[in-house]
Amino acid sequence: MMMNSAVRLLDRAAARWPERPAVEDEAQRLTYREYREISQRVGGGLLQAGCGGRPVVVYLPKSVRMLTVFMGTMYAGGPYVPVDANIPLSRLEKIIDSVRPGAVVTDEAHAEKLAGLALQGSQVCLYDHLAASAVDEAALEAAVDAVVDTDPIYVMYTSGSTGTPKGVTIPHRGILDYAVWVTETFRFDESTVMANQAAFYFDNSTFDIYGSLQCGGRLLLIPETLLLYPAKLPDYLRENAVTSIFWVPTVMIAVANSGALEGAELPALKNVAFCGEVMPNTQLNIWRRNLPGRTYANLYGPTEITDVCCYYIVDRPFADADPLPIGRACENMRVVLLTEDGREAETGEQGELCVIGTGVALGYWNAPELTERAFVPNPLRPAFGERMYRTGDLAFRNEEGLLMFQGRRDSQIKLRGHRIELGEIETAAMCVAGVENACAVFDEEQQEIVLFLESKEQFLPRKFNLELRKYIPVYMLPGRITTMAALPHTANDKIDRVALRRSLKEG
Ligand code: AMP
Repeated sequence: MMMNSAVRLLDRAAARWPERPAVEDEAQRLTYREYREISQRVGGGLLQAGCGGRPVVVYLPKSVRMLTVFMGTMYAGGPYVPVDANIPLSRLEKIIDSVRPGAVVTDEAHAEKLAGLALQGSQVCLYDHLAASAVDEAALEAAVDAVVDTDPIYVMYTSGSTGTPKGVTIPHRGILDYAVWVTETFRFDESTVMANQAAFYFDNSTFDIYGSLQCGGRLLLIPETLLLYPAKLPDYLRENAVTSIFWVPTVMIAVANSGALEGAELPALKNVAFCGEVMPNTQLNIWRRNLPGRTYANLYGPTEITDVCCYYIVDRPFADADPLPIGRACENMRVVLLTEDGREAETGEQGELCVIGTGVALGYWNAPELTERAFVPNPLRPAFGERMYRTGDLAFRNEEGLLMFQGRRDSQIKLRGHRIELGEIETAAMCVAGVENACAVFDEEQQEIVLFLESKEQFLPRKFNLELRKYIPVYMLPGRITTMAALPHTANDKIDRVALRRSLKEG
C-alpha cells in the first residue's frame, strides 16, 4: 500500500483487524471496519459537496464522530482543521477567514451559532447528513491517490502574539513517521489500549489517534466530565485495563496531588508519557513510587513539529527539586542549539532549540511572512536546502548529551498545559471600550495571568472577563486585573514589563 496519506493507516488497519475495537466514546464504539466505513461516507459527502482537496473546519464536541470527520476529510483529499466546540465566535471567524475552508462540519446545535458569522463562502455541512452519504469507492480512491505525503494533513491554530491565531500546517509525512516512531518507541501492538486526554485541537492527540491506528490498538476517549475529577482517573484506567496514557503534565500533577495513586493497582498500565510543559519531579515521583516498573517518558515538542521532536525515557531516580531532561531528538528528527551569534552551542552552553526533520511543519497557513520568520534555512549547513524550525525555547546539552529545557526567549507561556501568547490577551483587552493600554504578565509563583490596564475607568474583574471572553478562550482569561491611571514606561518609552512583574512580588 502506498503510504502517501495518513488515511492509508485506517485502510490498512481495517484490512488487518476489521472486527477489532478501534475507537470509543460514551456514545459509541466502532470496530476498524465501521470506523473506515463511516469515515468513507463522510468523505463521500464532502466530495459530493464539492469540497474535495479543500480544507474542512471541524466544529464539533470532542467525540468519535469528530475522528471520522478527520478521516473523511482525508478521504476527500484535503486537510482537516479541528477547533474547540466552545471557541469564542470572533476567534472562529478569524480562523475561517484564515483557512477559507470548503466546508465547516458541525451539528445542529453548533450550526445555529454560525448564523451571522462571515463564513467566506464555505458551506455548513451537518455531520448526520454527511455520515449518511453514499460511497463511491473509485472517487475516494482517486482523491486519496492525488495526495502526496508533503501535502497538508491538518491545520491547528495556536495563540498568536498579535491577536490572530496562527495555523500550523503539518504534512502527512510528519504523521506517518510519527506513528511509526510512537509504536516502535513504546512497543505498541494490537493489545494496546490508550486513554486519550488531549483535546483534538491540541496536537498531543495525534499520539493517540495515529499511534493506535498504526498498531491496531483500542482508543478510548476519556469522558470530558471525568477529566474534571482527577481523583477518579486511576479508577477509569483500571476499569478499562488501559495500557498506555499520554497526558499533559497538568493532569498528571492533579492526579498525583489528589492522593488517588496511593495504593492504586493498575496492572495493565505499561506506559506513562507526557508532553507540553515542564513535568515536576515532585509529582512524577508520586507516580513512580506508587506505580513502579512502568515506562515514564518526557516528550517535548511545539505544535510546529508533528507533536514531538525530543524524548527522554526516565531511566534513573530524580530528587524532587531536580529538573527532568527532555532528552534527545526522535529518530526521524535532529535538534540544533543555536547561540545568539549563530554558532552551535557547546556542551553546557545555552542556545535556541531548533529542529530539522520530517516532522517539521510546512509553515503557517496563509501567512508567508510569519512562516519565513520561524522556518528558516539551517545556517550551519547553508549548502543544503534544509529547513529548520526555530522554537523560541532555550536549552543546553549536559555532559551526557541530554537536552535540558530552560524556558522561553519571548512572552509565550504555558498555563495548565495551554500555550498562550500574552500579546493575544493584550490585543483582546484593547478591544474593550475604555481601555487605553494593556499589559499581561505571568505570575509564575501563583500560576496565573495578571492583566494591567491603563484606563480612567475602574473595571470589575468578572465583568471585564466577560468582555474578554468574546475574543479569547476561557483558558486565556487573566486571574487578576489591576487598573492604573498610567502603565509604567521604560526610558525608551516601552511598557516597563519588568517593573510590573516586580510589583507582583512586592504584592
Ligand atoms: P504547544 O505548541 O502547545 O505544544 O507548546 C509548545 C511549547 O510547550 C514548547 O515550545 C515548550 O515551551 C513547551 N513544552 C512542550 N513540551 C515540553 C516539555 N516536555 N518540557 C517543558 N516544556 C515543554
